[in-house]
Amino acid sequence: MNLQELLHKDELTRDEIIYLLHLTDKEDLQQLYARADEVRAQYCGDEVHLRGIIEISNFCEQNCVYCGLRQDNNSLPRYRMTPEEVIETARIITNLGIFTIVLQSGEDNHFDTDIISYIIYQIRQQSNAAITLSLGERTFDEYRAWKIAGADRYLLKHETANANLYESYHLKQKLSERVDHLKFLKSIGYQIGSGNLIGLPMQTSEDLADDILLCKELDLDMAAFGPFIPSPNTPYQHKLSGEAELTLKVTAIARLVLKKVHIPATTALDTIDPIGRERGLTAGANIVMPDLTPFPYREQYQIYPGKRGSQDDPLESTARLQKRIEALGRKISYKRGDSLKLDLQQPL
Ligand code: SAM
Ligand code: SF4
Repeated sequence: MNLQELLHKDELTRDEIIYLLHLTDKEDLQQLYARADEVRAQYCGDEVHLRGIIEISNFCEQNCVYCGLRQDNNSLPRYRMTPEEVIETARIITNLGIFTIVLQSGEDNHFDTDIISYIIYQIRQQSNAAITLSLGERTFDEYRAWKIAGADRYLLKHETANANLYESYHLKQKLSERVDHLKFLKSIGYQIGSGNLIGLPMQTSEDLADDILLCKELDLDMAAFGPFIPSPNTPYQHKLSGEAELTLKVTAIARLVLKKVHIPATTALDTIDPIGRERGLTAGANIVMPDLTPFPYREQYQIYPGKRGSQDDPLESTARLQKRIEALGRKISYKRGDSLKLDLQQPL
């Protein structure tokens, strides 16, 4: 089978995914990205959906070995936004015409059932924006309460589909539990997002193929693939960064395998590659997630160093992103951009 035939297959096997992950020839890669772009256009259209992120707290009770927010990182100044600051930031985001609000933080139990429910309820009162939570692994009762309060989506990356690696990166947590959380979230009506880090120490192409296949098995509404970027004051501070090209390959292959799913061109990719967003958006991605966290907090949400836009005014940096998207000839959507699986439409 030649490359074009493989790229047009309806279902790819694990071995075929691994084969595609090993492509290095420039022309082959161009064919892969062009095919992913075509499949993206077929299933998602040309609109790019924006998700406005508010990083509500950088406190975290976990110790993921790769992350700058890990509890044992004593060098990081910690903050929590007040509920009023979060609600006001959500209002600013919807005034920009962005109709998905993502509330993200470390695993911070200070933001308990009631506080998060209150924030969700207040945001609900002021607009019809979709509310995505990205607060780490919380209790099933909390997920249920927040759904009832009005949350729509939950983003919880599986990070790696290799159970042994998962335990070495997370120490206290298990892959099977993360998968159970995602399944539970889906079962109570959340649109679910997951995905993995690319280029983590010890990770192989087989692991990356399994990541894509796990995304398929979980029947995700959104799948995110970002490069690992070493962060100071973490056990992985001296490890090598993930590569932009590998991240693009995973993004493109995921588009071929998952088809009707939202895929972001991630900030991490844009941090390691000056045209990372453009490359992601032309290799299968259809989502961009601008960071609208206000100063001074945005500079302190240091998952990894040099996060693109973290030193810039949030409104200016969002406007710049919008121009970059439009320069690609893509339209910005001013709708919620709900799951592509919610309707029963055929491909566009
Ligand atoms: N605490 C929540 C969680 O873990 O789901 C949400 C916040 S966490 C900072 C969001 C994502 O950041 C994680 O899912 C992880 O993939 C990513 N991340 C953490 N450390 C990173 C690093 N060093 N490089 C790139 N991405 C990283
Ligand atoms: Fe905490 Fe999330 Fe970072 Fe893990 S990835 S240390 S849970 S903020």
